[in-house]
Formats: sequence, structure tokens, C-alpha cells
Amino acid sequence: MSVPYRIGQGYDLHRLVPGKPLWLGGIQVESPRGSEAHSDGDVLLHALIDALLGATGLGDIGDHFPPSDPQWKDVKSEVMLALVLEKTSELNFKVVNVDATVFLEAPKLYPYKASIREKLAELLSLSLDTVSLKAKTAEGFPPVGTSDAIAASVTLLCVKS
Ligand code: MG
Repeated sequence: MSVPYRIGQGYDLHRLVPGKPLWLGGIQVESPRGSEAHSDGDVLLHALIDALLGATGLGDIGDHFPPSDPQWKDVKSEVMLALVLEKTSELNFKVVNVDATVFLEAPKLYPYKASIREKLAELLSLSLDTVSLKAKTAEGFPPVGTSDAIAASVTLLCVKS
């Protein structure tokens, strides 16, 4: 039996280093440390892209945007997401809902949660009630708890028409 629903999950972790901007879900978060990365290091969008590619059976972010390819150096994660959404919608997949968790010790994400959630909904053309964003710390345990890393985990559901 073939069902039209496909679940996907994605995970990403980046090292945090001083003097780099911190991008999360396409929003810049005020922080003394940011993601060390080839692109803008947006762990939330990278995990989202992997979840989307996983749900639709299209591989992973490294297949589509190899770090060895200079074309993708410093590319905005929003652009990567838009390209992946183009491919998944060509296959008639639509995202139904997203549940995301960011793991970060500091700064506290509370002041940014609403705007990141709104931005995710906008990027995915979803209504706000279908986009969930949670923020967790790591209770001081490394590497997230010692502010040496940031991570994100995303689960989403797609429907194929
Ligand atoms: Mg990444």
C-alpha cells in the first residue's frame, strides 16, 4: 500500500567560534560566538534541508551542496533551502508541518523564538500553527553546554499529491 505521507528528520552541529555571526533559521542572533562553517553555518536551516531531503528520498545536503564545490562557498542557507524546495515541489511534495529543536547554551533564544518561527513559516509557505520551534540547553555538558557548539534537530512531514 502506498501512502502519500513521508516523514523526514535532519540533524546538524557546528563548532562555535568568537567573532563569527550566528544565523538561526535565517535570523541573525546577537552572540559573541558564531558558527564556524563553509556557508553561513545556519544549523537550523541545514537540519531542515536534510529533513526535507530525507522525507523526499533526495539524499542529503552534502550531495546537493558539496563543500568541495567553490560555487557553494558562503552561500546563504536560505538560498540552499529555496533550491531544495524547488526540487521537492517538482516532485509534488509539500511540507505539512515542522518540529524543530535548537541546542544552544548561550545566548538564551527566548527573545528570538517568535521571529525565527515566523521566518521558518515564511520560508516554507506554512501557517504558524504548523511550525514548532523549541530551544534547549545542554546543562553545561560539552560541547553544546560549554558553548563550543550549536546543534539543531528537525522532524517534518511531507505529503505527495
Ligand atoms: Mg551544517
